[in-house]
Amino acid sequence: MKEKNMYYKGNEKNGLTPITSNWMHEILDNQEVLRGVLEKYGSPINIHHLPTFNDNCERYKALFNSYDLKFQIFYARKANKTKGLVKQAFASGIGVDTASYRELEQSLELGGNGENLVLTAAIKNENQIALAIKNDVPIILDNEDECVLTERIAKKIGKRAKVGFRISGFVVDGEKLYSRFGFDIDHITNFVAAYIGDQKTFNHLDVVGLHFHLDGYSTYQRSIGLLTSINIGNALKQKGYPISFIDMGGGILMNYLQDEGEWNNFKSSLKERVSSGNNNLTFNDNGLGYSMIDGKLHGKLNTYPYFNKVHKDSFLREVLDYIDADTGLSVAALLRKHNYEIRIEPGRSLLDQVGVTIAKVVHRKQDAKKQWLVGLEMNMSQMMSSSADFLLDPYIVHTNKAEEEEPVEVFFTGAYCLERDVLLKRKVSLKRLPSIGDYVAFVNTAGYMMHFFETEAHLFELSSNLMHTGTNEKLSFFHFIDDEKIVLG
Ligand SMILES: *Cc1c(COP(=O)(O)O)cnc(C)c1O
Repeated sequence: MKEKNMYYKGNEKNGLTPITSNWMHEILDNQEVLRGVLEKYGSPINIHHLPTFNDNCERYKALFNSYDLKFQIFYARKANKTKGLVKQAFASGIGVDTASYRELEQSLELGGNGENLVLTAAIKNENQIALAIKNDVPIILDNEDECVLTERIAKKIGKRAKVGFRISGFVVDGEKLYSRFGFDIDHITNFVAAYIGDQKTFNHLDVVGLHFHLDGYSTYQRSIGLLTSINIGNALKQKGYPISFIDMGGGILMNYLQDEGEWNNFKSSLKERVSSGNNNLTFNDNGLGYSMIDGKLHGKLNTYPYFNKVHKDSFLREVLDYIDADTGLSVAALLRKHNYEIRIEPGRSLLDQVGVTIAKVVHRKQDAKKQWLVGLEMNMSQMMSSSADFLLDPYIVHTNKAEEEEPVEVFFTGAYCLERDVLLKRKVSLKRLPSIGDYVAFVNTAGYMMHFFETEAHLFELSSNLMHTGTNEKLSFFHFIDDEKIVLG
């Protein structure tokens, strides 16, 4: 067997081939480094490539510059908890969106300030608000109780609070988009005019912007959101409120897969297999959202849309190029005309190609159905999607050469004592059964997959996070920085 077959992607046929980067292949191709890193930091390990994060920042900057728009980009750090990426965000000249006291406090200690941070927490307590006011960090207010609290704390501290209003309820094709967040668009203008300003109920709040964040991934809905925000902003400016920015939140699509054909094939074969009652694609017949009820197929694929032709900057282009029927001007042209700074808060899409998660093979067994289960030293919470499955083929790194290949189909199982701790629901075909000590790599996991749902059940330790600084030299152990060792302040 040739050296180059020591690592390869699972599911050579009928797969879902992920887009990968050179830095990932360099690591997978270097067993010495892999062994060193996993021996030192344990399994699984999360590796983050800082130059790629910087490239993603540059791409968004270039896009806004091409429209000659005033803009600011805030990395939504809830998508990945590491300090290293927050530091890199500042180094790359963008800001950070924080959603809790500790996210805010730590971001301040890592170099954040009133210019490059924003607080958008869904639940805001006194500590968060006080910390934001003391540091001039804009607070995105969601409801009247938060206005009361912010006013009270600002008064107590003796400092004015910079605030933006989160708005929702946009009307798209005659229907109102529901959200549990924000002030309704029909009431926000009157609310601000009635209660905010000198001699009014809230006279310690400086209204500086509008904010929205939409569920789902529609560019059209975001265009409507921006147009509506521009109109509300204009109405407020006429009443004397200096609205300077409109923040359209995150949810910018990214693309995980190389091939649209593979994606379509997968979707149709899953439907077909679930319908036929012979689903051998997934673990224990998991329909990933589909099910058969009374002989009929119900439901829909309940996963992230992993293939997207329009993504990242082209997604934003679609939002900004939309033409407003009333004025005949594009969203971008209206933002320029009315002198608004556009803000975005991408989490997932800024982390595109930034991370990998690598785990060690601990055991192999055949269950009663004769399916091969490969036990990994990691658990389901350490690579967990908010949806039904992470639909990217994994990579396998064999640590021993084999005389011959003997193809096998496997599921990777994790350490939690739950029947459902199976790391990918899709079956993975390999050229041969992994050996104990081999490695399995999941690529493009930095956005939400590593940390968002990670728990310490069984008292398992949280996984270690390494920052890869990039290099033109031969890759070595020393190009990685332990996120724990990144010092604050
Ligand atoms: C979650 C969230 C984001 C980031 O969303 P992505 O889909 O990761 O880009 C941005 N802003 C707000 C207010 C959020 O809740």
